[in-house]
Amino acid sequence: MTEAGQGASGPARVVDEINLSGAGDVLLICEHASNHIPPALFNLGLTDDLLRSHIAWDPGALPVAVALSKALDAPLLAHRLSRLVYDCNRPPEAESAVPAISEIHPIPGNANLAPEDREARVALCYTPFRNALRAAIDRRIAMERPPVLVTIHSFTPVYRGERRDVEIGILHHDADSRLADAMLDAAASDTRFDVRRNAPYGQSDGVMHTLHEHGVSHGLLNVMIEIRNDLIAATDAQIDVAQWLAARLRAALDNMGGERPRAQEHGLSNAAGDQNLCALGGRDQSPDRPHHHVSDFRDDGRAAVVVDLKDVFHADAMDA
Ligand SMILES: [Zn+2]
Repeated sequence: MTEAGQGASGPARVVDEINLSGAGDVLLICEHASNHIPPALFNLGLTDDLLRSHIAWDPGALPVAVALSKALDAPLLAHRLSRLVYDCNRPPEAESAVPAISEIHPIPGNANLAPEDREARVALCYTPFRNALRAAIDRRIAMERPPVLVTIHSFTPVYRGERRDVEIGILHHDADSRLADAMLDAAASDTRFDVRRNAPYGQSDGVMHTLHEHGVSHGLLNVMIEIRNDLIAATDAQIDVAQWLAARLRAALDNMGGERPRAQEHGLSNAAGDQNLCALGGRDQSPDRPHHHVSDFRDDGRAAVVVDLKDVFHADAMDA
């Protein structure tokens, strides 16, 4: 396993940092962005069908996060390896960080893992992800612009045979529900989606690691957003849901007034904002360079998430 992540040119980059210099208030995090498994792990013994399924990643979450990054001028950090290699929303001591079973599926490559192999997964995935996130947060704090942490996830419509009616979950840690409360308020009069608090799961299911480690314990506003993945299967829908979320996030932050780290200066509901946004494409990412770094990493043709930032945002469609 120590070979995992090593390519001919050295260790693979396991964190995608998109729009790192984005000046908006929000910092986006996508721990389950990718279903990539390093070749040295032999697909963890799983079929391609299972590796394309929700057990390996959060389908649709990355394109939504990328669209949100664009809409909010937000930096986005995404993990480039499958959560079956290591689930970056779990601490190293959690059994589920390297799951031997996911939903009802045994993961052969994770069964009876030797301690040193488990430590190698931590070193490969968790440590660099945590460090990159911490560095991004610290940079903003040093600029006196403490970020608002928003993690983007998707969930399967059917889990263990049970249909889930909830469409968007707004999740929070028990110790800090400020932003979740404000988002739920902002969505309360909107009947488009079935939006619920701490659904389809919550803190007791162990999903609060990132929010607690990086948000709650540092006093940063934070929220975890879960989107049912059948709603974000196609590009148009991903953009549409991202715009809906961006509007609710902006409304929530605006309504929080003094609790916000800084007055929102990057609302994109006006012409100046739209200009800003168009200019953004050239900030971190030259037009000549592919923006969807995640696909670069996949050498097995299993690229299911390919998003070009140039295509993600339609300025005239913002509903802010
Ligand atoms: Zn997730």
